[in-house]
Amino acid sequence: MDVLIVGGGMAGGMLAAALGDSGLRVTVLDAAPEPVMPEGPPHPRVSALTEASQRMLTQVGAWAQLPAARVQAYQRMQVWDGDGTGEVTFDAGSVQAEALGWIVENDALVAALYRARPANVQWLSRTRTQAIRRQGEHWQVTLEDGRVLSAPLLIGADGARSRVRDAAGIPAPVQDTGHVAIVGSLRSAMPHDGCARQRFLTSGPLALLPLSGDGQDCSLVWSLWPREAERLMALAPEAFEAALTQASDACLGALSFQGARQVIPIRTLHASDYVRPGLALIGDAAHVVHPLAGQGINLGLLDAAVLAEEMQRSLSRGLPAWHAAALNRYQRRRWGHNALMLRALSGIKALFEANALELRWARNTGMRWVNRLVPVKQLLAREALGRQGDLPRLARK
Ligand SMILES: Cc1cc2nc3c(=O)[nH]c(=O)nc-3n(C[C@H](O)[C@H](O)[C@H](O)COP(=O)(O)OP(=O)(O)OC[C@H]3O[C@@H](n4cnc5c(N)ncnc54)[C@H](O)[C@@H]3O)c2cc1C
Repeated sequence: MDVLIVGGGMAGGMLAAALGDSGLRVTVLDAAPEPVMPEGPPHPRVSALTEASQRMLTQVGAWAQLPAARVQAYQRMQVWDGDGTGEVTFDAGSVQAEALGWIVENDALVAALYRARPANVQWLSRTRTQAIRRQGEHWQVTLEDGRVLSAPLLIGADGARSRVRDAAGIPAPVQDTGHVAIVGSLRSAMPHDGCARQRFLTSGPLALLPLSGDGQDCSLVWSLWPREAERLMALAPEAFEAALTQASDACLGALSFQGARQVIPIRTLHASDYVRPGLALIGDAAHVVHPLAGQGINLGLLDAAVLAEEMQRSLSRGLPAWHAAALNRYQRRRWGHNALMLRALSGIKALFEANALELRWARNTGMRWVNRLVPVKQLLAREALGRQGDLPRLARK
């Protein structure tokens, strides 16, 4: 085995798929059962994917594995302020794009990556690590069932509480954002019309992400202060739904839950380094950002694609894929980019929480101003699409 990827989530699955024609022997291991494509009503954990992510997933053959019923494109995005005085709308047509993004269930994306895994990838489900250590030039992973795996390159794609990161001794201080998120699947009285909506309230942003189906299903991500979440969760279902409809400005009419509502803590972290000799971190193992701009896994997919590109570059020069130069180039290309996103998101959060009158005035005037200035809006929409630069070159299917 050449590469051992701990974590077969969206980031780990993407790296495995992107190493398709590398000639490397790759093993993915994950504690979860074998991924299966979900059926029936939508699962509440979804991700808004950028055009850049959609293109990378297409290149590795995973996009084609997603059934149309699990994907919803959105052509419009509406962001407005709790005061009701500032609003920005974005349109795919204004940037000559088919869509501004796509909402995909996380489980469906993992299943699509699993289905698209190339022949050189072995995927071990229901397999959990117990101990990880450096042994000479290799990393050695002891599994809970006692088996021992060893590889010259170990990838930590094992999420926010990464054991790989801990084993490598890479610090990643956790920051409490002062927010939790209430998530769930909703039915709306009015159709979503392929528009992703986000209202910034002082207590936090409330996002309604359109889902496929008959046009009246959406996914809720309501970030708010823990004590406010506690108060809402203690309400009877009808009272909660009334409060939710009101908080959403009734932009889709009355909202009702399909299934359970769930509270998720929101913490951020950024690993001080992404690499060690023979080891790299990707996705949430390397960084966790606030979900308010739906960027988390978009950053994680780019990590995976850039790392795969650097590994392939190293191989093409006759060097091992895990050569220090390749890993360091990966770190240089991704760390600063992700740090910038973490800072930008905490700035946006602070701005919308601001109570000072002059800050609120500046924010709301700014939103109205941006909404009228077509070139600025086009620039922001391109950022949202992930069109910041050239995409990594990936194995084509
Ligand atoms: C409310 C909310 C909304 C979000 N919305 C968006 C959005 O719209 N757009 C977006 O881009 N991002 C969004 N995100 C972020 C996104 O969900 C994460 O960035 C993403 O799930 C991280 O994927 P990952 O593969 O890095 O890690 P994970 O999804 O955490 O996967 C880690 C995998 O590792 C496995 N694992 C862990 N430990 C072990 C072990 N010891 N042994 C074996 N296997 C192990 C787990 O089983 C899991 O499969 C959101 C996050 C939240 C909380």
